[in-house]
Amino acid sequence: MATGMQAYECFIDGRWESHHGDWITVRNPATGQTLARVPCADAAAVDRAVAAARRAFAGWRRTNPSTRANLLHAIADRVTLAEATIARAITSEQGKPLAEAHGEVQKLAKTFHFYAEEATRVFGSTIPNEEDGFLSIVEREPIGVVGAITPWNYPVELVGWKLCAALAAGCTIVVKPSEYTPVSVIELFRCLKQAGLPAGCANLITGDGSTGQYLVAHPGVDKIAFTGSLATGQTISRSVTGIKPITLELGGNCPLIITATADLDAAVKGAARRAYRNAGQICIAVNRAYVQRHIYPAFLDRLVAAVRSLRVGDGMQEGVDIGPLTTPAGVAKVDLHVQDAVGKQARLLRGGKRPDALSKVLQEGNFYEPTLLADCTQQMLVMHEETFGPVLGVAPFDSLDEAIELANATPYGLAAYAYTNDIRETFKLTRELDFGSVGINHVDAGIINAPYGGRKQSGIGYEHGHEGMQGYLLFKHVRVRHGN
Ligand code: NAD
Repeated sequence: MATGMQAYECFIDGRWESHHGDWITVRNPATGQTLARVPCADAAAVDRAVAAARRAFAGWRRTNPSTRANLLHAIADRVTLAEATIARAITSEQGKPLAEAHGEVQKLAKTFHFYAEEATRVFGSTIPNEEDGFLSIVEREPIGVVGAITPWNYPVELVGWKLCAALAAGCTIVVKPSEYTPVSVIELFRCLKQAGLPAGCANLITGDGSTGQYLVAHPGVDKIAFTGSLATGQTISRSVTGIKPITLELGGNCPLIITATADLDAAVKGAARRAYRNAGQICIAVNRAYVQRHIYPAFLDRLVAAVRSLRVGDGMQEGVDIGPLTTPAGVAKVDLHVQDAVGKQARLLRGGKRPDALSKVLQEGNFYEPTLLADCTQQMLVMHEETFGPVLGVAPFDSLDEAIELANATPYGLAAYAYTNDIRETFKLTRELDFGSVGINHVDAGIINAPYGGRKQSGIGYEHGHEGMQGYLLFKHVRVRHGN
């Protein structure tokens, strides 16, 4: 362990708790240097966090929704004040360019404001009864203690989707962020304390998969909200004790269809943005593009030029478009997918290796060049498995039916995109693409006030929007015999 490295603590029951057990070292993915150490919370720490959340639930569930709303707005304001600190923490531990990290924090603040408003809009209903003298009232009540587990690619935003919706609904929560990106989440929790959130309503335990495993199997947790890989999602489904709701936001392999009627420049811009942003480490990144045959050569020419203009480097430096991948394992997986495609006769138009001209300080970083592969077939890994890196596979198609069939031909169902200027094509695409989100003529699938979730192996349940809060609420049917 390097000396002088900043050590952080878990936040349990409204206090930062000193730690005496094992530690996790957090590294800067651009340089490989150690940044910080955080506790690897053990079973006893998880027990304390769950117990604190349970105690706090008794009061928080009864707190007037407008009070909860005011607190969430106050946290949003604190997040905005801390934007620079949180953004620097994100870039340092996750790697994305600093401007994008600022964007992530701004979206987090917006999520707090959005769910603050939703807190006051938890509506029930009344239902007529067959017998006179009865009334059925359907009320919504918070589920209880939530166990939230998150990945590293959008470290604070993905915590925010769960934290804000759960607190707004009247639930309390224990958050276990990724072991690769805990520091930005710790900075977020400072905002919760500063805003005066009552002790125990939100608790933070840092740790690795073993900490997460203990949390999901904990009998004191009433609901699991998980974002991460398919493999971990499957393990979690098997580990949960008792009968309890689980929300799983898992991986994707997202297609982009470009028809001959499309605005080609807009399609090229969209493809470059959604394939390479955050070094392709986005669950709704475009992994594969299907392009109608007679515009295929022109699309590739323009996209090669767009990819050539992307600058790879340390996200802290001005003008960098693509930072490092967050983990060395991510680089290995990217290279495996690229070699697999090239071995199966894909044409490598750009990238396919680590950048040559990295400065000395970045030599240990997890960099990979933005990579473009043409003439891909469905058998290549890049066309059906999640790469989670800066790689795009492209293939031509003849009919729209063929393109839709190829797009749907994966076990995933998170998001799909298409560019077209034909109204019939538009509605055929939106009706037949089997994905939770479909973007037409743009590549920004998620907005905070519309539901977001995967189909098939991409998950169960929804985040964002009114629907995102429903997952933290239970129905109660109250049947009253009033005799009138
Ligand atoms: P991961 O599954 O390896 O880890 C996610 C979290 O689970 C981490 O906090 C980790 O410590 C924890 N964990 C690991 N093993 C566990 C276990 N047995 N029990 C409980 N918790 C455990 O995923 P990752 O590599 O951090 O993230 C990348 C993945 O996340 C990609 O597949 C990506 O598509 C997915 N993702 C999905 C969405 C979405 O909204 N659908 C959004 C972002 C990322």
